[in-house]
Parts: sequence; C-alpha cells; structure tokens
Amino acid sequence: MLIRMPGREPYEIGVSGSFFVEPDESTVGLPDTSDLWALPGLADCHAHVSMMSLNEFDAITDESMRRAIPTNTWAHLDHGVLLILDKGGKSDTTLVTLDHDADKRPYAETAGSMISTPGGYYGNGFGTEVEPDALVEHIRTKAATRGGWVKLVGDWPRRGQGPVNNWPFDVLAEAVKAAHDADARVAIHSMAYSSADAVAAGVDSIEHGPFLSEDDLTALAARGGAWVPTIVNMLFLRDMLGADSSGGRMFVDGLERMRENLPLAESLGVTVLAGTDMAVPHGEVATEAMRLREYGLSDAAATAATSTAAYDYVGRSAQPEAGAEADVVFFRENPFERVEILAEPAFIMRRGKIVRTTLD
Ligand SMILES: [Zn+2]
Repeated sequence: MLIRMPGREPYEIGVSGSFFVEPDESTVGLPDTSDLWALPGLADCHAHVSMMSLNEFDAITDESMRRAIPTNTWAHLDHGVLLILDKGGKSDTTLVTLDHDADKRPYAETAGSMISTPGGYYGNGFGTEVEPDALVEHIRTKAATRGGWVKLVGDWPRRGQGPVNNWPFDVLAEAVKAAHDADARVAIHSMAYSSADAVAAGVDSIEHGPFLSEDDLTALAARGGAWVPTIVNMLFLRDMLGADSSGGRMFVDGLERMRENLPLAESLGVTVLAGTDMAVPHGEVATEAMRLREYGLSDAAATAATSTAAYDYVGRSAQPEAGAEADVVFFRENPFERVEILAEPAFIMRRGKIVRTTLD
C-alpha cells in the first residue's frame, strides 16, 4: 500500500493484523492507493462522546452516557476520525470509552467529570463542583486522571456580573502540577477572560480561548501548549444566544479576535487543534477544519490542526510506519492544499480493519 503524505517522499507499507509492517511481509489484499493522499487519521481534540447535543443536557444520565459512547465513537471512525480527545462530561462515566473495543472506536484520551467551582458551570448536577481550596486534593485523589486529562471550567457568567474567573491563579498552578504528577494533562474551558491565568499557570490546552493575547500565544508556543478554538461551537452559541444579547455579543467579539489570533498563532508556531465540542454531529470535524481556514489558518495549518498536529501533540506517530497501529485515511486530493477534501475520505482503516472504502 503506497503512503503519500504532503511534503514527504511516498513509500510502501504493509499491514499485518492490527499493525503496519515492512511492505515485503504483507501487502496482499490492500487497495491500490497510488493516486491518493494519506493522513494518519483525522483528529477531534474537543469531543464529548458521552453526549449527543447541547440541548439534551438536563436529560443526561450515566445510563444515557453509557449508551451514547459506542454509537458516537463509531460515528467518529466512520468519518475518518481515528484520534479523539474527549474533554469530559457530566460524570466520570466518560471514562467508559477507554474500556470499549479499540477496533470500534478511535484512539482516545478522555477527561472525566468536568470540574468547576460551586456555581461555576451549568449546575443541575452537571460535572463536579469543588471549592478552590479543595481542587488540588480532588485531583490527587481522583480516578478521573486515568483517561489522561483533567478538565477544568475556567470561567462562567454570573447573573449581573458577566463572566467570572473560577479559580485563583495559585490554585490553578498547583492543580496543573498535581495533574502532571499523575501523568495527566489539564484542559480548561476559557470562553471569557480566564485564559491569561491559565496560560501562565501551565495549563496544557486552552479550550475556546477567544481572548488569548499575543503574549499568551507566544508563551503557549514556547512550551508546546495547545489551543483548541472550536469555532463551530462559538458560532453555534452566538446564534443560540442571539448576536445582540449581552452573552451573544461576547461571542461576536471573540470570533473577531479569532480572526486576528489564528494567523498569529500559525506564525508563532502554536499547536492549534481542531475540536467540534457539541456543535456538529459526531465525526464532522472536517467542518471545524474549514472554519479554521475561514478564520485565518492556511489550508495546510487547518489540515494539520485536524490531523498530524494532534498526533504529534499526543505523541503518536503522525505518519504510518512499521510497528505502529495500522491507522490511515486516504483522500483523492492533497488535503494540505484544499481542506474541504477532509469531508470526503476515500478509504479509512483503523487497526488494520477497513472502516469505509470508496475504492474498487
Ligand atoms: Zn466542550
């Protein structure tokens, strides 16, 4: 099977069982991919596979989460999404994803229950509320670091006050240390003005982050931190609230800032990653890739954000190679030149099994 990746010499590779092997061992039965372009898989770095949509929040139970996970993870595979970072859910039931058959879901890292201060998120039993002085102990004693990520809610609007930062800076910095000691990374929901503290505290991944400053982006780039803008979600929330409402105006402002910050992030070398949040059906991360391009990334950077950059970020091979899990997605055009093609994978393989093919 020929692997042609943008900017690299094409090479042959074989597949045996769930793994890539040197081409002489086994290429039998594989399709002719010589006219196609390969990526290691698409990646959705802000997914919530335990939930179906934003509108069903109150109806979510542990049982509904258990039911949703296999359906939603398969939807990702079926679109060529072979890597997901699940940024948490209503409870630690999100971690069930890790127990499902790896052939039938993407490679996954997942946060457990989302963590906020009392009143610092949706409420109604959604996520886990922790007082700031109990956060570090909560993370230390928490099974939720098992999925590799801790998800904090950094800011949330309060009636009559607008958005409020949930955590004092020192607490954030200590929480990051505690998570790193447990070999987990920290992602933070920063829809308003918590991102400067989060970047300074060493948080690994800024989720949304419309108000990141140039200094923040420079600092993130210097330490290999990630930024997951979730443009599709910002647009969804703007439209849901109405662009003229006080909440909606913040999204309008934030989206304008995104137009400045995305090209800046690309030039500074920030790891920008594509994430859909709850705004589009599971698997449709190509839609976010197109929005990232529309808001200022190049086609190459938008495609990298939706694939190779995510593989590099989590330390998985960003190109198919012998010994690695046989994950690959092929396209009929070079996705680094035209991001739209990400929505039309021609051939999808996960761990050596064909998920979908349009080839003869
Ligand atoms: Zn989210």
